[in-house]
This record gives sequence, structure tokens and C-alpha cells, in this order.
Amino acid sequence: MQVNIQLQCTECKRKNYATSKNKKNTTGRLELKKYCPWDRKHTVHRETK
Ligand SMILES: [Zn+2]
Repeated sequence: MQVNIQLQCTECKRKNYATSKNKKNTTGRLELKKYCPWDRKHTVHRETK
């Protein structure tokens, strides 16, 4: 089952990315290293609603 989520930068708290995940395969909060244009570097982005 796919659900849409947003990825929030853990440093500036901005929501930079939207994606979807499979609830069955992904347990807990999704964390991805993504490029943040505001911080101008790669930061950890965490799932948010
Ligand atoms: Zn950021």
C-alpha cells in the first residue's frame, strides 16, 4: 500500500520533497539524505505529514 509523504529537512525544517512509500515494507519514519537548497548541502530529510 503506497502512501504519499513529505520529506522535511531536519536542519531548516523546510519541506523540500514529496514522495511515496510502501507502508508494508517501510516501518517507522523514513529518513533520507537529500540536497537542501536552503542549506545548500545534503541533509537528513525525515518523513512528515
Ligand atoms: Zn534544510
